[in-house]
Amino acid sequence: MQWERSCLFAGYVGMLERQLAQAVEYARTRRQGGKPIGKHQAVAHRLAEMKLRLESARLLLYRACWLRDRGAPAVAEVSLAKLAISEAARLSSLDAIQIHGGIGFAADYNVEHMLRDSVPATLFSGTSEIQRDLIAREMGL
Ligand SMILES: Cc1cc2nc3c(=O)[nH]c(=O)nc-3n(C[C@H](O)[C@H](O)[C@H](O)COP(=O)(O)OP(=O)(O)OC[C@H]3O[C@@H](n4cnc5c(N)ncnc54)[C@H](O)[C@@H]3O)c2cc1C
Repeated sequence: MQWERSCLFAGYVGMLERQLAQAVEYARTRRQGGKPIGKHQAVAHRLAEMKLRLESARLLLYRACWLRDRGAPAVAEVSLAKLAISEAARLSSLDAIQIHGGIGFAADYNVEHMLRDSVPATLFSGTSEIQRDLIAREMGL
């Protein structure tokens, strides 16, 4: 399942990228309190956290695939990547809805469906709990 846990989740890195670009654009253009909402620190920090999740998940995935390409078992590295990407997708999808306010929850606005897509990512191909078990086992626990 090492390749499944890597390749399937590359798609979620793409989703995180698109989601962040959309949320940044919205924060630049939506105005409240006389300025773009992205100028409110609470909103800007939420976007910075989304960026951090995306970039760290991406690097974990690249490392896991690089190791698999070389024939290494990479059990912990693949589980770390799968766990980081799927949990980033779930958390950042909630953040994206929060940034978009009410319309973020509207089914026809293309934001909430990313939450519905990301929740199962923490379940299939081994749940987040099972990934943590695998990581712990690789650490000798
Ligand atoms: C969208 C989607 C697509 C799927 N596609 C496939 C597929 O193509 N092929 C396939 O075979 N399956 C597929 N599944 C099934 C998926 O692999 C299982 O849902 C998943 O492994 C969890 O099993 P379960 O649903 O029986 O939950 P359970 O095993 O009953 O788990 C319930 C909860 O208990 C936790 N838990 C269970 N055992 C432990 C443990 N030992 N230690 C700690 N926590 C534990 C789980 O992490 C989870 O939080 C898919 C699921 C979804 C949602």
